Amino acid sequence: MGGRILDGKKVAEEIRGDLRRRVLFHRDRGLRPPGLAALLVGDDPASRLYVSSKVKACAEVGIHSDEALLPAGSGTLEVLAAVRDLNARREIDGILVQLPLPGGVEEDAVLEAVDPAKDVDGFHPVNVGRLALGRPGFAPCTPAGIMELLNRYGIPLTGSRAVVVGRSRIVGKPMAMLLLRQHATVTICHSRTRDLPALCREADILVAAVGRKAMITGDYLKEGVVVVDVGMNRVTEEEEARLLFGGDEKRIRTVREKGSTLIGDVVPTAMWERSSFYTPVPGGVGPLTIAMLLSNTVASFEARHGTAG
Ligand code: NDP
Repeated sequence: MGGRILDGKKVAEEIRGDLRRRVLFHRDRGLRPPGLAALLVGDDPASRLYVSSKVKACAEVGIHSDEALLPAGSGTLEVLAAVRDLNARREIDGILVQLPLPGGVEEDAVLEAVDPAKDVDGFHPVNVGRLALGRPGFAPCTPAGIMELLNRYGIPLTGSRAVVVGRSRIVGKPMAMLLLRQHATVTICHSRTRDLPALCREADILVAAVGRKAMITGDYLKEGVVVVDVGMNRVTEEEEARLLFGGDEKRIRTVREKGSTLIGDVVPTAMWERSSFYTPVPGGVGPLTIAMLLSNTVASFEARHGTAG
């Protein structure tokens, strides 16, 4: 069939453009910029990198950002105190707690301490509950970004059969809730699901959020399915890359020259051939996650000021 790309990079740029305009609109009316604070505990290099890319993205749309850094070895009480401080700060509209927290810090207690009105990651039980009830609130950024993508490409959701593989609280579960909110008939699958390929073959929309390299083969895909591949895995062997990426010499060269290339949960050649639309990896879901974090921050600011751009 030859599926068309759902271009997450392009949609993320459109979202950022819209946010820039809204931030300028508020500035012209004499309001302060929206503010996002990242709370980082310890010195894990990957977490540092994530935080600095979020800070950079904030600057690009005119959001003020702040980093609250706590040393490795901080305990739950110290982290809770830092959260309370951010809750109280008037110039901060959004708080993101960079996960994972170091062992010994109680993650649930920390996430529950964030003011739900500043919970731009959508992890607080109040926002999880609002999502389940279909009430307004913050939805987690990755699934929220996927909804933006599907909606902007006009993918019909009402009455469609959607299958979500993965039930994490960051991706799978909120994804299912958001699809349900838009009237899809949703099946959630996980590691104990029986006959996964048969269930997946029923899908008009298949969201793969497992984290297993090329687990979903052509046998799982109905002809014409819309595939959203959330997984981020790596191929390190040239031979394997040739098998999974078919004749895509660019990807094979990347493995040869850089030692690896990104791949999702779905076999790329199968996805290209059988889908009507698909998200590429990279350039599909990934760019939308940070764009939605910024979007939630601006929405939080606007709610606080009773204003919309
Ligand atoms: P988790 O590990 O938290 O969840 C994985 C889910 O997959 C679990 O529900 C698990 O089931 C299910 N699963 C595992 N093995 C199988 C199997 N053989 N068959 C069916 N289901 C299975 O991962 P996340 O949800 O956090 O992330 C999923 C992927 O998405 C990862 O690759 C991650 O890197 C990527 N990701 C990408 C983002 C982006 O911005 N592009 C953002 C967030 C994540 P069970 O519950 O039974 O264990």
